Amino acid sequence: MSVVKIANGRIVDPASGRDEIGDLWIEDGAIVAMSKSADVETIDATGLVVSPGLIDLHVHFREPGQSHKETIGTGSAAAAAGGFTTVVCMPNTNPVADSPSVISWINERAARTAKVNVLCSGAITKGLKGEELAPIGSMKNAGIVAITDDGHCVQNNEVMRRALEYARMFDLPLFDHCQDYSVVGDGIMHEGEWSVRLGLPGWPRIGEELIVMRNILLAELCDAPIHCQHLSSGGSVRLIREAKARGVKISGEVCPHHIALTDESLKGYDSNFKMNPPLRTEKDIDLLVEGIADGTIDILASDHAPHAAYEKEVELDHAPFGILGLETEFAIFHDVLVSRRKAIELPRLIELLTINPAKLLRIDRGTLSVGVPADVTLLDPNLEWTYDVEKTCSPSRNSPFHGATFRGRAVRTIVGGKTVWEL
Ligand SMILES: [Zn+2]
Repeated sequence: MSVVKIANGRIVDPASGRDEIGDLWIEDGAIVAMSKSADVETIDATGLVVSPGLIDLHVHFREPGQSHKETIGTGSAAAAAGGFTTVVCMPNTNPVADSPSVISWINERAARTAKVNVLCSGAITKGLKGEELAPIGSMKNAGIVAITDDGHCVQNNEVMRRALEYARMFDLPLFDHCQDYSVVGDGIMHEGEWSVRLGLPGWPRIGEELIVMRNILLAELCDAPIHCQHLSSGGSVRLIREAKARGVKISGEVCPHHIALTDESLKGYDSNFKMNPPLRTEKDIDLLVEGIADGTIDILASDHAPHAAYEKEVELDHAPFGILGLETEFAIFHDVLVSRRKAIELPRLIELLTINPAKLLRIDRGTLSVGVPADVTLLDPNLEWTYDVEKTCSPSRNSPFHGATFRGRAVRTIVGGKTVWEL
């Protein structure tokens, strides 16, 4: 029998409302109330926060097909180094994760190479083309936890309605990357003063808001949940707030870069500031943070999107969208939301990164309750550190946060009772 005692830490478990200094016990990979075993491994957590293992339901691990950017092995190592014990991979791989065979391949690969729990989502439509539904039921049997066409957005509202009906039937959450193609066109940055000054094609807020509105109407019609991914516009927060007040099953997530950076960052034409949806304005940041503070936004995620240097080192118009996220995610959220803006306190931040995504995914994680698998993250909210992208676990280097200093980070990551990463 293997017994671990995490001693004298501040145990914060938002699922149960627990917040106290104490000892957390792990026996044979699961949380227990206490153990009488004589053979105990003790981890001193004095001065640290003992959190349920962090969960990120939006990552791109690039396998199969683009393992020069990231693999399930390297991506899960980055997750562990960021304090994450469970992640959900997006289906825009090559081949696309739109069939049970690709899902099984990913799950087998994860079982052999992943350091943390790697779950996968399946595509809504075949080839992410937005036309014909993927085999949602058989992908569910193969183990998907959600459906999404992330990277793409289903434009046809009738296809989306049928997808939502299938998702409800198979008890799967539906995630959506909200982008109206007719409005966004070839836009690459927020449409506003800076896109005009820099002479770059604009990606206006309304390109996101139109699809958020569509999703609200469909969620209401089908009485089934839709989760809006990586919200960037303050207007989207207002739409979701109003819909939730009516009881509509709509939710949204916010990513670190959208509350840490603005469109002005692109003035140096550095492609590490090019994301989809794009960085917006201070006003949007204020409204996103307000949505996080008042409970409109339930979930935080990274949209971890590795790209090779040679792909990013081209003209801005041709560079791919997206940045690394997992290793800086907790630090940025803690820094912006808790330390600087004081919008929320640490237990609420932990809730947004643990039990809330676990509930949406319907998995038995995100809590320190007795009996659940012992996924635990030790956090040091006071640790000051500087991010060095050259030391990342990922083979990619596309982060705009290289050299940035933060306060707060994970110092130890435990999955199923075993330490998988330690600072
Ligand atoms: Zn996306």
